[in-house]
Parts: sequence; structure tokens; C-alpha cells
Amino acid sequence: MRLAAFTALALTAALLNAEERIDTEVNQKIRKEATEGSQVMKTLHVLTDRYGPRLTGSPNHEAAAKWAAATMTEWGLKNAKLEPWSFGHAGWLNERAAGYITSPVKDNLVFEVLGWTPSTKGTAAGAAVLLVPPEKPAKEELTAWLNENKGKLKGKIVLLGKPVVVPVSFTATNKRMEDDAVRKRLEGGARGGPQRPEAPKPEPGKLTAAQMTEMIDPWLLANGALVKVQDAGMAHGMVRAFQNRTYDVAKTVPTVILRNEDYGRIARLMGDGETVTLEFNIQNRTYPEGKTTYNVVAEIPGTDKADEVVMLGGHLDSWHSATGATDNAAGSAVMMEAVRVIQALGLKPRRTIRVALWSAEEQGLLGSKAYVKTHFGTFEEPKADFGKLVGYVNLDSGTGRVRGASVFGPAEAATVLKVVLAPFEDLGVMGASASTSRREGGTDSTSFNAAGLPGIGLMQDPIEYFGQTWHTNLDTYERIVPEDVMKASTVVAATVWHLANRDGMLPRFENEKMPAPVKPETPPPSAPATR
Ligand SMILES: [Zn+2]
Repeated sequence: MRLAAFTALALTAALLNAEERIDTEVNQKIRKEATEGSQVMKTLHVLTDRYGPRLTGSPNHEAAAKWAAATMTEWGLKNAKLEPWSFGHAGWLNERAAGYITSPVKDNLVFEVLGWTPSTKGTAAGAAVLLVPPEKPAKEELTAWLNENKGKLKGKIVLLGKPVVVPVSFTATNKRMEDDAVRKRLEGGARGGPQRPEAPKPEPGKLTAAQMTEMIDPWLLANGALVKVQDAGMAHGMVRAFQNRTYDVAKTVPTVILRNEDYGRIARLMGDGETVTLEFNIQNRTYPEGKTTYNVVAEIPGTDKADEVVMLGGHLDSWHSATGATDNAAGSAVMMEAVRVIQALGLKPRRTIRVALWSAEEQGLLGSKAYVKTHFGTFEEPKADFGKLVGYVNLDSGTGRVRGASVFGPAEAATVLKVVLAPFEDLGVMGASASTSRREGGTDSTSFNAAGLPGIGLMQDPIEYFGQTWHTNLDTYERIVPEDVMKASTVVAATVWHLANRDGMLPRFENEKMPAPVKPETPPPSAPATR
């Protein structure tokens, strides 16, 4: 039984292999151009150093988008443009921020400003007060606590929550995945891209962290707190700062995420009975025009099958604590590089190759969802072009080499990708798997999957992604591994080239086998929505 199944599989693979007609000569040319002629680090430099951070709705993001479109036009791509869509919130950026402990010792504080929060009025100076709300309270419990403590806020800098204890870690982490581990993950049907963390089940009668914030923020504002300070809770000065979920600076006080070491120090000094005084000077700016934001698209037009499209992309927007190098200037630069390589070689694809750089991925895959809705619709409510998309290849897991691919579709779709990727095993690519999940996940390929379209997520070596750079103040150009992004560009260019030139579309689910759509989950309240 097993042997028969194996033989059948091997036979299918062999047949497909013959059918795929891998163009070895083009693959060689792509390798050479993506290595010797590589522009990917230059693109990364501009996206990070010149335009980072690229927060959605900010002028930085828009300038990066315009630069990407102009650069791809210079490279010879066609129809490069910014496609507007409604983000619905004003843009926001922090321009400068400084903070100090002024008594009983003098020192600088290391922190990041929470997105979409207001500036201080000049310098905000005051005594620190440490307030620890009850854990997972019921609404009445928190209301009582807020009433009890509201007299402690006026003119104070409020440290909210117990200091987090981050023990020294003795665990070594693998920066690369072992080949066999990758193969096993692919055999197990692993998803390609990062996944949204499972939402903790809300406990009946208990407030979630987001609901607590909804009650605490207006309380701080109404009772005269100067600044809200939260513990970053990470080792080695790492700070992750997301956003005020109302996106309205009028609804909260100036808020910072202080590195764990400073938060702990202040708390320990206060524990000795000392009065600790702090100072913050924060200048943020909002941009009403940011309510409209943009996805960037550009094309290499196809020839005899020009109306069919192979898409590739990543999100151009970033968080604001650093310049967004691994998340996701890397993905954007690799995708730009892949089309540059094809264009530079003068290759004329049969199908149109279209690159897309999304906005507002970090706020919930909003840019790619808007695009899919406008251009393709869903399996249940298709637009005219729903059947014209071969696949959408996405990169969004940091700087690491590509190790495999996961495609939303039947096993035959994964088989095609396996054959296309097989010549790149020496670069670390171990194969492909098929996914039947229409669950909206941690990155933009799942906006396509959710619609019933062939999203292709790429699995990458972790390097320092989830441990260090992902959404932190350490996500800078220095953390990019040049060799890895060059390899990724090679693999992506070859993949989209072959998908654009094979005789057929990528196999899709037969209508009666299309998995049912999944109702989008609410992201976990305390965890970031996306990667
Ligand atoms: Zn990302």
C-alpha cells in the first residue's frame, strides 16, 4: 500500500518534471545577475536608511513607495504606480524623544514612543508613580481600582504594571534550520510565512488587555497624568512599540515603552522608598493626508498570455522603532530585485509578472486585503480577474535564505513548485508543500489564501528574526545577511519566471474541493496583529 502510493507519487513527480521543462540556461543567468549584478543591498540601504521607518500613513512610507515605483520604472518595468486605498487613520511619526531620570540619580532613559500617541507639552517632568492594575480583572473590579487610584495621577509620570523579570537565557537558538528539519516541516504541510499567534481565549467575565487599555487611557487623561510608561519586558534593551489602538492622539496621554532595565531600575529605587523623578520631551506629528495610503505595483508585461498574471510582493510599511530592515525592507528589496534581474536579462515572460509592495500589513494585512478585494474578489464572489492569477509569492520572515514554499492549493500545485525549486537545493531550498487553509494569517500571502487564491508563502531561515529584530528597535540594515537576500532574490526570480512561462496555470482546487472561507479572527489583544 505504502509502496504503491510512493511509486504513484514518484511517477507523478517524474511526469510533471518532464512537463515543467526547467530552463537551466535561464536559471544560470538569473544566478549570475542576482549575484554579480546584485542591487539588493543598495535597495535595502535606501528603504531603511533613507526612508525608514515606513509607518503606514506617514510621509516616509509614501516617499519610499514613490521611490520604489520610480526606481522600478528606471529599471525598465512598466505600469509602475501607487494604487491609493483608504487606511482611514491619519498618519503619525515620532520626530524626537528624550527621557531622563533626574533624581535620585541622573541618567538617560532608553525607550520608544507608542505609535499614534500625543507629544508632551514641552518637557514633562514629575515624580514617578508605579501603579499595578489587578490581573485579568472583571469590569467592576477594574472600575473600583481606577476610582481608588485616580487621585495619584495628577502631574505624575505613571509606570503602569509590575516590572517584568527577564531571566538570563541559557538556551542557544539556531539561526539556520537544519535541512532535514525543513524537509520534515514541509512534509507536515508547514505554512510558508509567519503565522499570527493564536489568540488567547478571552475568559468569560474578565477584561482582555485591550479592554483594560480602553478603560485606563481615558482615566490617565482625565486625571492629569503626564506620561504613561510601560515596561518593554525584553532582554538587552530591546523595545517593541506598537500603536494606540484608537489611532487618535486625543484619546490618550504621551506614552513610552521603556527598556526593561530602566523600568526595573526605577521600580527598585522606588521600592527602597526613594522618590524618583523623570523627564520626557516627546514630539510627534500626525498627517491627516495619511488617511489615504498606497500599494506600489509594477509590471513586466507578458507576451502571448499577457492577461494572466504572476504576482510577487511583500509589505513596504514597517513599525517605527527602527528602520524596518528585516520587517520588511528585506522582503520588498528581494521582490524588487527579482523583477530587476528578469528585466535586466531582457527576458520576455509569456505571462505578466507584477510586483506589489503593500502598505498597512502591520495594522492587519490591510493593503493586500484591499488589493485582493478590488482586483480579484473571492472564490464566492469573484471579479473578472479571479481566474487570471497564477499565484502570489510573498516574502516576510526576515533576512534568512528561502528554505521552502507553501502554496494554497491542491497537492499538484506544490508538486509544480517542488520541480521549479529543485535546482536551488544548493542555495538551501528544500521543497514545497500545499496548504488548504483559508485562515488569514501573519502576512500578506494569506490575504490571497483567504480569498481562495493561490498565495505562496516562503519559509526562511530565522537568523535573528523572532528573537531580536522582529518589530524591535534593533531592526536595522546591519542585521541583513547580504548573501541570504541575494540567494532569496535568485530563488524568487527563477520561481516567478517559470510560473510565468509554463504552459498551464498553477493547478487550483476544483470548485467542489475549495475549502470553506474562514471568518477572520480578532487578533490577540496583547499580541501584535501581524508580522
Ligand atoms: Zn512583516
